[in-house]
Amino acid sequence: MSVLDLARPDIRALSPYSSARMEAQGGTVLLNANESSRPPNIPGGDGLNRYPDPQPRALVDALADLYGSQPDRLLVTRGSDEAIDLLVRAFCRAREDAVVVSPPTFGMYAVCARIQGAAVIEAPLGPSGDLDADKLLAAVTPATKLVFVCTPNNPTGNLVQRDVLERLARELDGRAVLVVDEAYAEFSGVASATSLIDDHDNVAVLRTLSKAWSLAGARVGALVAHADVIALLRRIIPPYPLPSPCVDAALGALSYEGRRVQRHHLQEILAERTRMFAALSAMPGVREVLPSHANFLAVRFDDAAGTYRRLLAAGIVVRDITRYPGLGDALRITVGTGNENDRVLAILRAGAVA
Ligand SMILES: *Cc1c(COP(=O)(O)O)cnc(C)c1O
Repeated sequence: MSVLDLARPDIRALSPYSSARMEAQGGTVLLNANESSRPPNIPGGDGLNRYPDPQPRALVDALADLYGSQPDRLLVTRGSDEAIDLLVRAFCRAREDAVVVSPPTFGMYAVCARIQGAAVIEAPLGPSGDLDADKLLAAVTPATKLVFVCTPNNPTGNLVQRDVLERLARELDGRAVLVVDEAYAEFSGVASATSLIDDHDNVAVLRTLSKAWSLAGARVGALVAHADVIALLRRIIPPYPLPSPCVDAALGALSYEGRRVQRHHLQEILAERTRMFAALSAMPGVREVLPSHANFLAVRFDDAAGTYRRLLAAGIVVRDITRYPGLGDALRITVGTGNENDRVLAILRAGAVA
């Protein structure tokens, strides 16, 4: 039994599109891809006349190193959103298969599943906001191909312990792929689940440069999984997913100097998270601040709708998460700069007095 036995048979049998850039490497006169031989006359235009490398070696190597994995276990994607979509497409047959999610959690798992025509089975988080592994496993049906676990979880900020992930990987072996979304892992300081892949070929880990690496606009994410899963997804990913300016931006962020700056920003955000947690917890009108291992805080208010409107009137946009189960009184507030956070606190204080 291999994890590929869980994948769609038609995708396993598909012969992928073979792009010009894949077929021939090397050479200096490139007349095989119908590109323009002339760069565009715009700033930074050099090289933009050429299709980009489908999976640039330098970026694959840098990300594999960053995530404690190996290059043949990593696929670079347009944000982790694309990796979620690829997984659902490769593993779920329309109108037959299903995914399991634990709400309240990131909405894209269910959206991608529905676009593909797969069913969405819900195993809600427990009352304390912790993942309920028993409930999750009980929700898995023979049709279930993917089980999504987000840690730290968006929008609650809580972690799933490693022994729980390991148990899920073990018990899902041969039944479903455990997809661990680590979009916020850098803010938690917890070791990545990528090391579980050594023993469990059914574990896939989502990472991104969008949050802790300040590159949401460049759309660079990664999937770390068994080499067979990566090879399968390479067959269905569009031929040129990564625009070359985005690849350059990612390589810059991952350079020695880029990493130094990133560590500094990360420390700032963690200090601000601690400060905001304390200040918000003491604020009149705040019922509870959920402990967070990410770069945001889910905050329960006596009047969430009114608080949202007051912040918005002052030009501050936070996320209304009252539609999520169990969070009917909550807003999600991203940890900003010290200045931005001060403005949030000032508005809330003014509202508490009024
Ligand atoms: C932001 C976010 C993502 C999407 O990240 P991109 O790499 O920008 O697509 C994935 N998962 C979770 C839980 C997120 O909050």
